[in-house]
Amino acid sequence: MGQLAEGGGSRLERTVDTVRSYAPASGELLAELAVASDEEVRRVVARARKAQRAWAVLPVGERMARLARLRDALAEHAEDLVEVISRECGKPRHEALVHEVTTLLDHLGWICKHAPAALAPERLDLHLLKHRASEVRHEPRGVVGVISPWNFPLVIPMGSVVEALAAGNACVVKPSEVTPLVMLEAKKIYDSTGLPEDLFAVVVGHGPTGQALIDAGIDFCVFTGAVETGRRVAAACGQRLVPCTMELGGKAPLLACEDCDLERAANAIVWGGFANSGQVCISVERVYAHEAVYQPLLDRVATLAAGLRQGDPARDFVDVGAIIFPKQIDIVRRHVDDALRKGARVVCGGKAGPGQFFQPTVLADCDATMTVMREEIFGPIVPFMKVRSDDEALVLANDSPLGLNAYVFTRSSSRARHLAERLEAGSVVVNDVLSNYAAVEAPFGGIKQSGFGRVHGVEGLRDMCHRKHVSFERVRGPARDPYWFPYTARSFHWLQRGVRLVFGAGSLARRIGELF
Ligand code: NAD
Repeated sequence: MGQLAEGGGSRLERTVDTVRSYAPASGELLAELAVASDEEVRRVVARARKAQRAWAVLPVGERMARLARLRDALAEHAEDLVEVISRECGKPRHEALVHEVTTLLDHLGWICKHAPAALAPERLDLHLLKHRASEVRHEPRGVVGVISPWNFPLVIPMGSVVEALAAGNACVVKPSEVTPLVMLEAKKIYDSTGLPEDLFAVVVGHGPTGQALIDAGIDFCVFTGAVETGRRVAAACGQRLVPCTMELGGKAPLLACEDCDLERAANAIVWGGFANSGQVCISVERVYAHEAVYQPLLDRVATLAAGLRQGDPARDFVDVGAIIFPKQIDIVRRHVDDALRKGARVVCGGKAGPGQFFQPTVLADCDATMTVMREEIFGPIVPFMKVRSDDEALVLANDSPLGLNAYVFTRSSSRARHLAERLEAGSVVVNDVLSNYAAVEAPFGGIKQSGFGRVHGVEGLRDMCHRKHVSFERVRGPARDPYWFPYTARSFHWLQRGVRLVFGAGSLARRIGELF
């Protein structure tokens, strides 16, 4: 056994040569797995590269037919997946089914139907080089490395796996060391479909295994995790000039306008703040409520939150499960303590325990100095702050280094549009919460320090490709074009005349002026 890995604790004890998976709701040790050595990671990537070459030359329709078999196999094993997700994350089975399994099945179904069109070569009409025909091809990058977190251990990594494979890549996943069993279950199901075994692989380990994956010569990296880790991963990718997608933290604001539907807003805040115990990158992380609705909204949210049933999902149907990663409990507690010290009030919950749980907590009278309003919480806390206008809410919402999601609750569509245009976020959702991740045809990702690149939709598929411009001759060309060698006074004269004709002074300004 090696020494304790960084961040290890008593029951969370993890060694550098093994990974231990615990059931957070009960503390039961579920498995102890060997960490893949750097050499093993290199071998896995080399085998994936070989498999990718054969996979990439298959017609896209054939690839989709095989991926459709994977979709069916995942659907057939939905119950097994729900079971392992719920156990390893301590999350309610409803959430394992709806957030993870269903979204993955729907995403893969959408890909099977739409990837051929999304990845088809695009004809490009060249306006100056009219004698050439052009197309932009979306070609697979090669081997895609996926490094993923523990909060959605199926849908996050597998979403990237199916995008990568559809685009003709191979894929190697380094799942979170906190929740490795879910990806191993997905790999087992994948292997049962007859798809090439080496085309999709899982390497188990801690952070250094993620680093080893980047060092093993991958061609693209999709990282999902914390901002600080993202900086290290992006730097490692930069060293090797490996392009990457960064899906990092969020601090989603919810703007409750004076004209909002109070009952819908209250229910949405409770679900958006406490689903998955608040461990969602797009959780409702801070509420800016207009003074006209602040008190009734806060009261209703507190009542609803107090009615939530929390416990071990393996024993009962509960609404709120455990905290998946134990270190998160201290982070959550520190946010609450800081808020209370600075004048906030607990109107519901507020306490950790028993075991790896934290009560659904609602905080009133928060202000912008509190960490709970400024930093990612990633736990079951919903802080409320009173505002006097939409403009004040907008300024506060945008005063954040993060920009993943934002929510607006209003009955006015023009107000919603006005706010959506001004909110600094990768997605804005009006009168709903969390649903944009399930809109698998829409691009998902952040701005500012929430990251770059997109998953889902056409953008997600195309990010798995490099663009190749291919230029053909339309008609057989002469022996040489007029602007090739030799440069003569005569050819310069004709070129000058041509330039004057095409770019004549003032002509663009006039034409653009006429256009708008
Ligand atoms: P984390 O950053 O601690 O770990 C993520 C992954 O990175 C793990 O697999 C980990 O082993 C690996 N890793 C750690 N150090 C590494 C290194 N130096 N090189 C390579 N890999 C390394 O994140 P987490 O705690 O698992 O997840 C929570 C965070 O993820 C939150 O901040 C949350 O907001 C974010 N998240 C973002 C999205 C999104 O789509 N934007 C989705 C889910 C979670």
